[in-house]
Order: sequence, then C-alpha cells, then structure tokens
Amino acid sequence: MFRFVDSRGTLPTHESKRFKRREVKDIKGGVIHHTASESYIENVAKYHVSPNHVCKDGCAGLLYTFFIDKSGTVYWANDLENITHSQGGHSTPIPKTQPNKNFLAIVCSGNYGSESNTGVPMAQLLALLTLWSHLTGETMHKYIPTSLYNVLGCSVNSLWGHHNFSPTKCPGNLLSALADNMTSLLPAKKFLSSVEDWQVALNGQGYGIHVDGIWGPISRAALILFQRDHGGLVVDGKRGPFSEGALLTAMGY
Ligand SMILES: [Zn+2]
Repeated sequence: MFRFVDSRGTLPTHESKRFKRREVKDIKGGVIHHTASESYIENVAKYHVSPNHVCKDGCAGLLYTFFIDKSGTVYWANDLENITHSQGGHSTPIPKTQPNKNFLAIVCSGNYGSESNTGVPMAQLLALLTLWSHLTGETMHKYIPTSLYNVLGCSVNSLWGHHNFSPTKCPGNLLSALADNMTSLLPAKKFLSSVEDWQVALNGQGYGIHVDGIWGPISRAALILFQRDHGGLVVDGKRGPFSEGALLTAMGY
C-alpha cells in the first residue's frame, strides 16, 4: 500500500559532515538505485554515516533523497537541495550535467540482481512511478505533499538507472532493464471536453466570449465565426470533432 513518510531530520547523520547544497532547479533527472539487500532505512543510513567504501570516515547522511521499501512506503530522507553523491564521480547520460549535482537519487530496498532474483514487488514499483510522476508534475498523488508536486523542472521521461552513470550492477538487472526499456511517455492528447474548454479555446483565438460554462447563442455565434474563418469546416455552430481538431491545431497542439 502506498505510504509517504517525511523522515528528514529523524535518520542517523554524521556528527560533523554535511551534504553540499544545490538549487532544486539544478535537478535534471532521477536515478534508480537498489540497496542490494532488503534493508531498513535506518540501517542503511547508519551504514552510510559510518566509515564505509564510499566515504572513508563516513558520509554526511543517507546517500539518497528517497527510499522505497518493498511494501510501497516512500521515505523522504533528504532535502532535494542536498547533493547526496549517490552516482559517484562518473559520466552522465545527459550532456552538460554532473552526475550528482544534477540528479536526484531514489533507492529501492532489495536485491534486484540476477544472483538473488525475487522480482520487484508491484507495491514498490507503483510507489516508485507514483513518486516520480508527482515530482515531475505528470500526476498528482494525494498522499505526497503538494509542495513536491511538479517541483522538478525535468521531464517525466528523465528517469535513469545507476548503471547509466558508471559500470555498476546497481540497480540490479531487473530494475536496470526496467529503466532501459521504459519508452518515453507521449504527451497526453489534449481534447476539449467541457463547454468551458470550448469557450477558453475560442477566447484563445480572439473570439472574446464570457466563460460561464453555458453554451448559449453568443458562444455558438463565436464558434460559427471560427468555423467561417477556418476553411473546410461546416459552419453550423456545433461542437463536433472537426471543429475541435481545428481549434486544437490553431492552439498549437
Ligand atoms: Zn546505486
């Protein structure tokens, strides 16, 4: 079941070290990691702040911004401004970006490599995609703070795996394949569903009418004018698919 927990300020941190900071607008993509073993977030944070293979004398805190467990709980571990150095100092899949400053790290608890292949639970996968689509403004989710909605300037399509940054087994062959095989989300097809949509669209083309949601004679007259101005349309003042298509084209869709 999807849950969202703001764990910032509650996890083990280094006694003196602090993460370097960035601006949220610097973030150009998200990166999927796995923990390589099923672990509690507190234990992973403890490991990261103790002397380890990443930081000889311990890192500032948990090296990820979000942590997702197998039950679908998302833990918010670091301010988006914290540069968590999750990708190491290698290359990046986006030109003119830096692997850490310009990417936000999301870790899935579990080992998704071929040596321990248990499959990615649906709840965890759903939580990952739900979080990512909320952060990028694709779909809002009621359990995630609205302050995080559309907070990233990057596209929903800009989701990568750690393996896209350096030769690493992270995030395991299952999540790596998932990241590699996701194809771009096509922009949602726009359509005019309500009377308001039609009135706003007509206004956008300069047929200044009152947007009140009521399809009265003035709205109809505006549509007739639009149909007249756009050759090939039947001039009948009816909200049909051809007029809709012509309006959307005129609006740039
Ligand atoms: Zn990783």
